[in-house]
Amino acid sequence: MERPNAWKKYPEGKAQKKVMDFAEGYRRFLSECKTERECTAYFVKEAKKAGFRDLDEVIAAGKKLKPGDKVYRVNRGKALAAFVIGKEPIENGINILGAHIDSPRMDLKQNPLYENTDMVLLDTHYYGGIKKYQWVTLPLALHGVVAKKDGTTVTVNIGEKPDDPVFGVSDLLIHLAANQMDKKGAKVVEGEQLDVLVGSLPLYKKDDDEKKKKQKKDLVKRNILRILKENYDIEEEDFLSAEIEVVPAGAARDYGFDRSMIMGHGHDDRVCAYPSFLALAAAKPGKRTYAALLVDKEEIGSVGATGMQSRFFENTVAELVALTGEYSELYVRRALTNCKALSSDVSAAFDPNYPDVSEKKNAAYFGRGLVFNKYTGARGKSGSNDASAEYMGELRKILDDADVSYQTSELGKVDQGGGGTIAYILGNYGMLVIDSGVAVLNMHAPWEIISKVDLYEAYRGYIAFLEKA
Ligand code: MN
Ligand code: MN
Repeated sequence: MERPNAWKKYPEGKAQKKVMDFAEGYRRFLSECKTERECTAYFVKEAKKAGFRDLDEVIAAGKKLKPGDKVYRVNRGKALAAFVIGKEPIENGINILGAHIDSPRMDLKQNPLYENTDMVLLDTHYYGGIKKYQWVTLPLALHGVVAKKDGTTVTVNIGEKPDDPVFGVSDLLIHLAANQMDKKGAKVVEGEQLDVLVGSLPLYKKDDDEKKKKQKKDLVKRNILRILKENYDIEEEDFLSAEIEVVPAGAARDYGFDRSMIMGHGHDDRVCAYPSFLALAAAKPGKRTYAALLVDKEEIGSVGATGMQSRFFENTVAELVALTGEYSELYVRRALTNCKALSSDVSAAFDPNYPDVSEKKNAAYFGRGLVFNKYTGARGKSGSNDASAEYMGELRKILDDADVSYQTSELGKVDQGGGGTIAYILGNYGMLVIDSGVAVLNMHAPWEIISKVDLYEAYRGYIAFLEKA
């Protein structure tokens, strides 16, 4: 039972151009948005353009919501839920597309800056599951915010413009790497070696005499601090309340002679978040309420106020119940139980270089469309959501009727490894939920790859799901 290649539906010419044009919009988004905050700001901007209103403003104005209304709500600048209100009461449930907008990277520590042998480095703590050795000798950029004591926030984005400087983590030269090359992969580069080199120019003043120059310590660091003060009005202590992410520098690029793929940072899981939001904006309002839920912290266990485990979504559904009719706690519970969700997260694409980790009948392939993972987990499906057969049956009908290409997959061979998503957290409410998303090559590497037609089929499949489920 092999699934057909989706490109067959899009022969050269107009049909194929649609796929390529959609991917180009995504490529630009991915180049621009490398943090959960940047993604949230992007989707708020797009939501406003598409006629969505800020839910908190609706609440503050004491207004009600009616079928066809579009609203969004931001969770602390790092996550977002957007809704299109349906004709039926909210208690009948919501069709949800849930994806995450955080990606593996390195975060600056709270006290990051130090000088060593006239070089200044920033100490990091990596975020999410990474092969640390992949993050050395690459051009890196700094993205994030610095929150100052006076309540203002400075936005940082350095390393993306063509004339910006870039940063990086060094690696040992091969000539001196005899010991290193004997180490296990996990130890080749260790966490505390992921310090980012950011400067080497000491601060000498014109009128300093030789004696003075010798007396002064940490002159390179002083110079970096001078630059930070002049350009961003931040001081060393301000790092204490900063969130700065170190990410690969540069734009996402078309990949392959045929430009059928995209290489970029953070496809996991922005390649699902982007079509989820666009599908919500494009879907025709219907009986049921639709939602796109774009959350943070999935890569570290969906924890915290902005992760899927927080009450943000539940509380927002309660607000919707109140804004569309009479409020009752029972209606909220019914609403959550009656939801249908696609936990939209990436799948591991079959890699011809590493065929041994996959079981070929149950692997995801580039070009074969939206991927469904009935279960994820590891060691006997442990920790998995394991979606119901009936729900998968309903989805097959919806996708076949809409001529959407899809495939099913497991994350590798049995006992090869495993992983998790937000599916089981949504499942806690008793709602129907299954993992579905786009296949990714090089997952969690600095530069990941996806197939453009898979992205397009995800978008089409998400619209079909919202309108028909
Ligand atoms: Mn993911
Ligand atoms: Mn991931």
